Amino acid sequence: MHTDSAPCNQLIRIVILALAILRPMDAKEYFVAPNGSDTALGTQATPFATIQRAQQSAEPGDTVLIRGGTYRMVAAQIAGRVGPYACVTLLDKSGTAEKRINYWAYADEQPVFDYSQVQPAGQRVTAFRIDASWVHLRGIEVIGVQVTIKTHTQSIGFDNAGSHNVYERLSVHDGMAIGFWIGAGANTLVVNCDAYRNYDSVSEGGRGGNTDGFGYHGKKGSIGNIFRGCRAWFNSDDGFDFINSDEVARIENCWAFYNGYSTSFASLGDGNGFKAGGESGRRVEQLPNPIPRHVVVGSVAVRNKVNGFYANHHPGGLEWTNNTSYKNRTNFNLRGRDPQDNRTVIPGRGHVLKNNLGFAGDVEVAELDAAASEVSANAFTLPVTITAEDFLGLDEADLGKPRKPNGDLPDVAFLHLAPGSDAIDRGVDVGRPFKGQAPDLGAFESGN
Ligand code: CA
Ligand code: CA
Repeated sequence: MHTDSAPCNQLIRIVILALAILRPMDAKEYFVAPNGSDTALGTQATPFATIQRAQQSAEPGDTVLIRGGTYRMVAAQIAGRVGPYACVTLLDKSGTAEKRINYWAYADEQPVFDYSQVQPAGQRVTAFRIDASWVHLRGIEVIGVQVTIKTHTQSIGFDNAGSHNVYERLSVHDGMAIGFWIGAGANTLVVNCDAYRNYDSVSEGGRGGNTDGFGYHGKKGSIGNIFRGCRAWFNSDDGFDFINSDEVARIENCWAFYNGYSTSFASLGDGNGFKAGGESGRRVEQLPNPIPRHVVVGSVAVRNKVNGFYANHHPGGLEWTNNTSYKNRTNFNLRGRDPQDNRTVIPGRGHVLKNNLGFAGDVEVAELDAAASEVSANAFTLPVTITAEDFLGLDEADLGKPRKPNGDLPDVAFLHLAPGSDAIDRGVDVGRPFKGQAPDLGAFESGN
């Protein structure tokens, strides 16, 4: 008996040592609550009132936990100004690759930040400006962001300028701001976020022509930015907009619907689901070299005012794989520009279009130079007949259903292929997992 205890004690010591190494003993938690105070200690019992105050205390590895309830933001809280933007919360303290700084909703609570009272005259409004890198924001809801300027302008919900940041389970809705904007920074992941019912009814006569759900407009070096599992609906301009960007960005498994419309389907701004390119207004010598080939994969566009998937005069090709486009005026519009002058409108060249599925558009595919692109296994080129019978469901209400508790998109029948559909196993291998003999057409592989 006695001889067994020595190795046993040694094992316990090793376990304790391992736990000490694995557990970040120095990581602290700070709390923010609607009834908090910025002169408090920031503990659970005595929380801060603002994320801005919590940032002062937080160090790399720390987590700021944000309690549920409504935070009625006021102009006196504007933390700083960046160019023409009044930034109400300005995160400029970075974490590290090993130790992010986290700003997370507490447990399953829902913090809602209401900006309807923040109306600084003559200034653009940004709800959250993130100049920091290695931060992770999760579970925050932003509503009521205002526009006060009557000429050309825009306000923004989450404006990223740092790198290696994660934006997760956030939403921006029922305001006048663009939801999410990546204007700079690399390797940003925007995952499982929603932007909806955003309409700038104030500037430029209330056309709403700037209010997109998600935008990437980064300059040279802003590589590796990804939007994944995000939804955009009833934004008055576009769902997703990548105009005037220098590097490649990706859209994966996102849904865009009803963009370009008011909630009663009155016509407002541009109205594209995925506007995945365009370098308009740039002189040829200003064009990025190479022209970025943005990637749109596994995504769904439904009943956007103009185009479901749109190249937007891009002076080069883009990559479109396994997307489903339904009931848009044009489901896939590849309109390009001649890169020699970035002016002459041409059918889009250099595109890769594979495994895409369109149905019930007024036009299925437009302005594509197929001979100068790589086009294979799309519903609009294959000898397939797509009708309502090809789908398990066509109830558009599925699109706006609540997300799963972990933030993933809801499981729906909408636009999933029915057994026997001739879109099943008609695609080509593009390196994505598939079931059956071959990939299906569209965003949803049957049998999953
Ligand atoms: Ca736009
Ligand atoms: Ca298949």
